[in-house]
Amino acid sequence: MDKRLYQAWESCVKCGICRSVCPVFKEEKSEPFVARGHITLLSEFIKGNIDFREETAKDYLYKCLLCTTCVESCPNNSETDTIVEIARHEVIKRHGLPTYKKVMSKLLKNRKLMDFAFKSATTFSPFFAREIDSPRKGINLKISLSGIEKNRTLPPLSKKTFLDKYGSNKNKAKIAIFPGCLINYTYTEIGDAFIDIVNKLKIDFTVPKKQLCCGAPIYFAGNFEDTRYLAEKNIELFLSLDVEKIVILEPTCTSMIKIDYPKLFMYFEDRKWEEKARKVAEKIIDPISYLYNFTSTKERLKKLNIKTTYHDPCHLKRALKVKNEPRLFLKATTNYTEMKEADRCCGNGGTFSIDYRDVSLKIASRKVKNIVDSKAEYLVTTCSACLMQLTDILHLENKDNVKTVHLLEILNEALEA
Ligand code: SF4
Ligand code: SF4
Repeated sequence: MDKRLYQAWESCVKCGICRSVCPVFKEEKSEPFVARGHITLLSEFIKGNIDFREETAKDYLYKCLLCTTCVESCPNNSETDTIVEIARHEVIKRHGLPTYKKVMSKLLKNRKLMDFAFKSATTFSPFFAREIDSPRKGINLKISLSGIEKNRTLPPLSKKTFLDKYGSNKNKAKIAIFPGCLINYTYTEIGDAFIDIVNKLKIDFTVPKKQLCCGAPIYFAGNFEDTRYLAEKNIELFLSLDVEKIVILEPTCTSMIKIDYPKLFMYFEDRKWEEKARKVAEKIIDPISYLYNFTSTKERLKKLNIKTTYHDPCHLKRALKVKNEPRLFLKATTNYTEMKEADRCCGNGGTFSIDYRDVSLKIASRKVKNIVDSKAEYLVTTCSACLMQLTDILHLENKDNVKTVHLLEILNEALEA
């Protein structure tokens, strides 16, 4: 058995505290969908006492948001997220990848192919999607596609990707910027806001053209081999740069490169690449901590007359431990109110929100209640995936009077030129 899995299994004292915090358990009320149940079930699977394929035991493997709320609350720091990831990888090792996941990996490993797929989708989007009437630009599909339901609000695809706009081969600058796929292909305006900010601050930057997806979507699905390919390519690229910091605009990608890349090479027991990954990790930072701690942003902000509340993305708060900086920025620039359960997962969880839309919406609905109770006009967050999920649920529940916005957009508005 994998050493870390064994440690997690051994460290669980079956106290059940995870049951009181897990958003999925709150809705499902069933032991296999909480950390303690995962530990028991998946350990038996990895020991070979039970077997299942992805299709036959999908729920046991995938009905977890990997939000790490259980890890944060566990008195013994049991790494449930690691258990789930390793179990998913074991299924792939034993039974191979389903076709759609093979296609997804191929796309993520080849930027040209990925660009082609997105650009084709942008060209043909009037045939399969329609714009919706909501404060933040959004689209609905005309027919359900790849498990994505018609009534789900998605961000429109950008006509020009972030990398097309700013990508370069320059390898010396103060900072390098890595947008992440959602900002590159859809929420380009959030990336534009960060570029405006660094221009106002006169920070010399580069956006390395050759960057690839960080691999998070396939890593969390257990495809460690293809993630390794992406990790090695990105690490080589980052090591070739002469920069002080590498600012990664999405918290999931930041935590993937800073925390999960070294973990991945530990899994493969590859010390050489683990060391390279750790060297890169020293320079990796999210944009909010970077602006707060390494620039003059906080001294140059004007007050905007708007009421805001903030949602903590799981990866920013729990993985990267960034909790105060977003709130300090919001208090400095807006009339800020803390909502109840601000750090409770929004229910997106990558493909979780596609595979288990009913559970995902129930989790998100609780968040909507807390947002509305805060009486804020603006729901602010720092992750595009959370922004997508919360824009969707606010629209579905006819709460379009609450606008969704990324903190970088607020900061850009508030920062004096
Ligand atoms: S909180 Fe930790 S120790 Fe307690 S049951 Fe859950 S995983 Fe086990
Ligand atoms: S990671 Fe989140 S969804 Fe998964 S078991 Fe833990 S608390 Fe529940």
